[in-house]
Amino acid sequence: MHFDPRAVRAMSGQFIDGVEVAGGTAHHVESPSDRRVALPVEWADAALVDRAVLSARDAWRASGWGAAAPRDRAAILYRWADLVDAHAEEIAALEAVVSARIYPEVIARDVKVVSGVLRYFGEFADKIDGSVTPTPRSSFSFTVHEPYGVVAAIAPWNFPIILAAWKFAPALAAGNAVVLKPSEMTPFAAMRIAALAVEAGLPAGLFNVLHGGGEVGAALVKHPGVDYVTFTGSSATGARIMADAALHGLKPVSLELGGKGPQLVFADAPDLDKLAATIARGITYNAGQVCFAGSRLVVERRIADDLLARVRRHMLGGQTGTTWDEGTSIPPIINERQLDRIAGIVDAAVADGAEPLCGAERLSSDGAGFYAPTILRGVTTENRAYREEIFGPVLAVQEFEDEEEGLRLANHPDYGLTASIHTSDVSRAFRAARAIESGTVWINDWGRRTDFTAPFGGYKKSGIGKDMGRAGFEKYMKTKAIWLEVG
Ligand code: NAD
Repeated sequence: MHFDPRAVRAMSGQFIDGVEVAGGTAHHVESPSDRRVALPVEWADAALVDRAVLSARDAWRASGWGAAAPRDRAAILYRWADLVDAHAEEIAALEAVVSARIYPEVIARDVKVVSGVLRYFGEFADKIDGSVTPTPRSSFSFTVHEPYGVVAAIAPWNFPIILAAWKFAPALAAGNAVVLKPSEMTPFAAMRIAALAVEAGLPAGLFNVLHGGGEVGAALVKHPGVDYVTFTGSSATGARIMADAALHGLKPVSLELGGKGPQLVFADAPDLDKLAATIARGITYNAGQVCFAGSRLVVERRIADDLLARVRRHMLGGQTGTTWDEGTSIPPIINERQLDRIAGIVDAAVADGAEPLCGAERLSSDGAGFYAPTILRGVTTENRAYREEIFGPVLAVQEFEDEEEGLRLANHPDYGLTASIHTSDVSRAFRAARAIESGTVWINDWGRRTDFTAPFGGYKKSGIGKDMGRAGFEKYMKTKAIWLEVG
């Protein structure tokens, strides 16, 4: 299962009012797999940002999308989902050519998540009730939920179409219009998905897509025609967006940000070899470019040697390669800057006394940059390898003597997106699950399932609000209380 990257054709302009709009500044996007492969793209200027937002506002008002029968919205989202499935290979090639996502995985997982999320939130469209609130009989009061209007959705590059769909599907199902800005590094597959929406019957203009970097994202956040901002990306950018949204219209925001997930392993953890495979996958999947990566191993000292030897064996088995080659299991690092950052953090940790059990080096292949799966034993809590999200295949290891110390190390001072606890003791598992400050806790497991039902979002600097599940739908609506004086 592979494709020819040079045969991929992508829309380079913006997607506004149901059509591709040329203009903006000329750029190109290099493939991280092979920097000789590059596709042209045009970044929106201020006029195009304005045009996209006004088009979304006009379409929202003129189509009556937010006021029409919710079931009609659902029907369009189902048709759209079917079209996404029918174009899986084309979408997957557009995604894989510029991202670190491996083509067969995009077909098997990412595209199916997009269509699945459209169906899941389509189902929600007519299932949110208001309530009659307790009042004296002389009045009658009830609540209704109403869409915000225009939602600005800003997405990162690591799972481009999945993370965009987590936003546009519920926002549209709830009756809003959406202007999406994908990452400047991975802009193309979202354009194709937006075009399929129009084919499915979504009124033109309700879903517009803009290209560009942080400046375009910031212009979108600040635009007076935007009513709500939903963002996935780094904590630093999230903070800037929150400030901009506050100063430019006091707009509500939801933020899905960085993580530094612990794998907290007690000596009674079941099946050490299976666990070692899980820990290795938790940090090598997508080359560690995963917000919920299990990037810290916090292990009870008396099993540390044994477990680390097994994790190391599993870490060494991966195959680097392009995202379009058969057999690739470790994709490239997204760009040179990020590769330098990973190498810098690892080198500094080693200089600071951490012991590299494997990796700790760049691997280069023809025109691409990879980083070898790395285990750093004995990372101190002052070190950047502990404090910062590395976003690469680097596992930082710390050891503990007792439960109290283990929990203290597992709780990160800044991040709280996900955590895993491994133990055979059910009471301890539940104690630890409550003690860890994290939006998701897996017990004897790691990784998101493709169920859409559980809310996902961080504590602390890992975010505000949730994507997915009921919470990931309801946030796109305001609640109004209506009173009638009965007399
Ligand atoms: P990033 O913050 O650099 O960029 C994310 C998006 O924001 C991009 O589209 C970018 O162009 C845009 N942007 C940048 N500056 C902006 C500004 N001032 N105003 C508006 N938009 C702006 O993040 P990234 O490097 O693309 O993604 C990696 C980060 O995303 C990691 O920290 C990762 O943990 C996080 N992430 C979080 C989740 C989650 O669900 N919590 C999921 C995936 C990734």
